[in-house]
Amino acid sequence: MHHFHYQSGELYCENVPVRRVVEAVGTPCYLYSATTLAHHFQVFDAAFTQFPHIVCFAVKANANLAILRLFGRLGAGADIVSGGELYRAVQAGMDPGKIVYSGVGKRPDEIRAALKAGILLFNMESSQELELINCIAGRMKLKARVALRINPDIDAQTHPYISTGLKKNKFGIDIDRALEDYRRAQELPHLEVVGVACHIGSQITQVSPFVDALERLKELIDRLRALSIRIQYLDLGGGLGIQYDQEAPPPPSEYGQKLIEHLKGLECTLILEPGRVLVGNAGILVTKVLYTKASDAKHFIIVDAGMNDLARPSLYGSYHGLWPVVEGQRDQVKASIVGPICETGDFLAKDRLMPAFAPGELLAVLSAGAYGFSMSSNYNARPRVPEILVQDQDFYVIRKRETYRQLIWGESIPDFLK
Ligand SMILES: *Cc1c(COP(=O)(O)O)cnc(C)c1O
Repeated sequence: MHHFHYQSGELYCENVPVRRVVEAVGTPCYLYSATTLAHHFQVFDAAFTQFPHIVCFAVKANANLAILRLFGRLGAGADIVSGGELYRAVQAGMDPGKIVYSGVGKRPDEIRAALKAGILLFNMESSQELELINCIAGRMKLKARVALRINPDIDAQTHPYISTGLKKNKFGIDIDRALEDYRRAQELPHLEVVGVACHIGSQITQVSPFVDALERLKELIDRLRALSIRIQYLDLGGGLGIQYDQEAPPPPSEYGQKLIEHLKGLECTLILEPGRVLVGNAGILVTKVLYTKASDAKHFIIVDAGMNDLARPSLYGSYHGLWPVVEGQRDQVKASIVGPICETGDFLAKDRLMPAFAPGELLAVLSAGAYGFSMSSNYNARPRVPEILVQDQDFYVIRKRETYRQLIWGESIPDFLK
């Protein structure tokens, strides 16, 4: 469910015509619906009311301060994967006591900052990381709360680049050697071992891989408790998919209900780390058609947004719906929507039957709220685009368009070139 719809032939985000935003900030721009974001969080959170739980929004999906603040106000915690994301979450006023820190490559300075902030727990991804955190916490005269991120060897049946729970992936600790690492962690004086974690992948459209992972972790928890390791948190990660095209992911209510069925009797607090499902369909990327170019072989529609603004199609070949900002009668053509970047991989849609959009028209690239802006870059020296948050009849620029000055910020020419 989202709040992008047509009214008298014009696309609105909530009660704001998309055209009005474009008149104010230009194109390309990201547009998010605050009502949709809040609704998605509340629906997800409600799916788990029958079990003690914390919903930790995966910051990497959309790290804008205003969005973090919005979720934080609704009671969300944060799943972070870097010191930068910790900084963002804290700046947005999120509760450090609800922050979990995941990722295979935590640096010492990042670990120190997280300990200082007093985060809820670290999801440890290797035995070396255990030793390092123990050492840093010792020097700071603290105890670090940790969970071990387990690689349950589950096929999440998603794109290989976003599948993370298979033995061959770089993530987590092999479930077979988990006991050994838990024993070691338990011995380390500056660690408090409190949890078991996993995250099996992203854009998962069935519940069964989550249930399979849960079953494996439950077995592990039983064994750990038999060793008197007090497991208080079970972190099942994120990964629930959304509809981009024809996918039919389970609604959060079904996902929650099925997981809870398998959690009965387990005494612990459940942690969930949803990213995409909270923000994906709450945002669009608005772009303008610059040119069209047709030959015998191909029909190209060249727009002003490129792979640096929205990387997903180039990166994963992923599908994003396309809507005109102003409805109208157009011929259908088989065309590709391409950007201005000097790469053949720079496309937003490929060989798709679509209306023959003409120069000057505005297009909405749908489902762009997750891994859209957060993955964007300055490639080809393109300033990153503004982000706008709409609520009801109002819109707010929550990130300005970058300037050329900002593009060269921090660069300098050494003396020998002067
Ligand atoms: C990316 C990631 C998430 C969020 O994944 P979504 O598919 O966006 O829900 C959650 N936890 C971890 C550890 C991640 O790396």
